[in-house]
Amino acid sequence: MRLWEEKMELPHFPRLQGDAETDVLVIGGGITGVLCAHMLHEQGVEYLLAEGRQIGSGTTAGTTAVITAQHSDVYTKMVKRFGKEVARGYLAANMNAFHAYQALSGRHDFEYEEKPSYLYSLTEKQDLQVEAAILKELGAEAEYTEECGLPFEIAGAVRFPKAAQMHPLKLLGALSKRLHIKENTHIVDVKGTTAYTAHGKITAKKIIIAAHYPFLKLKGLYPLKLYQKRSFVVALAHAPALPGTYADPGQRGIYLRNYKDLLIVGGGDARTGTAQDGFSFVREFVKGVFPDAREKYAWAAQDCISLDEIPYIGTYSRALPHVYVATGFNEWGMTSAMAAASILTDLAMGRENEYAEIFSPGRPMLRPQLALNAAETIKNFFTPKGKRCSHLGCALKHNEDENTWDCPCHGSRFDEHGRILDNPAVKNARV
Ligand SMILES: Cc1cc2nc3c(=O)[nH]c(=O)nc-3n(C[C@H](O)[C@H](O)[C@H](O)COP(=O)(O)OP(=O)(O)OC[C@H]3O[C@@H](n4cnc5c(N)ncnc54)[C@H](O)[C@@H]3O)c2cc1C
Repeated sequence: MRLWEEKMELPHFPRLQGDAETDVLVIGGGITGVLCAHMLHEQGVEYLLAEGRQIGSGTTAGTTAVITAQHSDVYTKMVKRFGKEVARGYLAANMNAFHAYQALSGRHDFEYEEKPSYLYSLTEKQDLQVEAAILKELGAEAEYTEECGLPFEIAGAVRFPKAAQMHPLKLLGALSKRLHIKENTHIVDVKGTTAYTAHGKITAKKIIIAAHYPFLKLKGLYPLKLYQKRSFVVALAHAPALPGTYADPGQRGIYLRNYKDLLIVGGGDARTGTAQDGFSFVREFVKGVFPDAREKYAWAAQDCISLDEIPYIGTYSRALPHVYVATGFNEWGMTSAMAAASILTDLAMGRENEYAEIFSPGRPMLRPQLALNAAETIKNFFTPKGKRCSHLGCALKHNEDENTWDCPCHGSRFDEHGRILDNPAVKNARV
């Protein structure tokens, strides 16, 4: 069981019976969908949220729920790729999101606790000094330091004081109580602004797809624009209380935060369907650094990774001008989901949003990651033997640690009987 699900009773909502009509249909009841529905509700818009299973049953239940605009070392890369104006806008959109959580915490109890976030490295000093300098230049309160409160030796860190952590499902529980939600209402297709379930249809004026991975097969080229990365987490008793939250920007870097008397430690990230050793990677680290700790929970989850480390938030594709999407959060979905809710509420209401262009899914795709995504898809699509993914037919890999069948192309996952665990697949697989 994932830590957040322990003793957590979320509100339940009925299944949609037959057809429905609404102004804005939100598909997906993770943090993104619930925040979108919450903002539409606040604005007096008529909406309906359709969740295929239960709200909060996707990646949001597996997150570590650190709320920060310090998204790893993204600002150095963003300034190089897109210039300072884009980086400044990205920072502002995510700081606004942080302040929106702060405001919500005054009205709802979701165990929101402000703590600085730190980017730290065991080996790199100079890169972190550069990131701190760039953050300052962009207007953030951030500083380079070699003292960050971690009980092991580090090379350096960037302190980002305006950050927080929360209980993600308590947030969903608090907000969803008064929202219009249908659970067990899985959308299998969208045509124009009509969404289809197995038993009926929902006609809308606008649709927001907040289903984690956009599931409409090739429209918008998301199978090329995204891949999914799996990350491995343990929660430990008899481990120290830390004064901040921590993330190492390395490929498989370790991240840490406390929850009550537990220490959550995660990392070992790898493209879904490729590495088998994520849990042992994290446990080896724990053994070396916290030898007295006792593991209470262990889980893995995955997030969508964009080509350029900026999420895709906006119009789904040219062919679907009234359908919007929010995805590709690059494991920084707390502030990204809040930014998405604000941008998509504006777009759905026909208003301008000053940050919309930065996140537009229609931006150029020519990035090195595009070639890697294409190569992985071609390799696995043309693998002659083996179980096949029900999404686009790639060869599935057996994940020994979790006893699942995982797709290296786009990250769909199936249990030992072939039942879907993670999208974009919408049908079970034959395994
Ligand atoms: C291990 C890990 C740790 C992380 N830690 C952090 C962190 O500390 N801070 C941070 O900012 N971010 C973090 N992230 C990222 C963050 O958790 C995610 O970006 C975020 O939770 C994604 O939320 P979502 O609502 O987009 O997706 P989900 O929570 O997956 O919600 C999507 C929902 O859509 C539903 N759905 C899917 N398809 C359909 C359909 N066809 N019809 C109807 N419903 C459908 C699903 O059932 C699901 O409930 C982490 C990610 C991972 C993997």
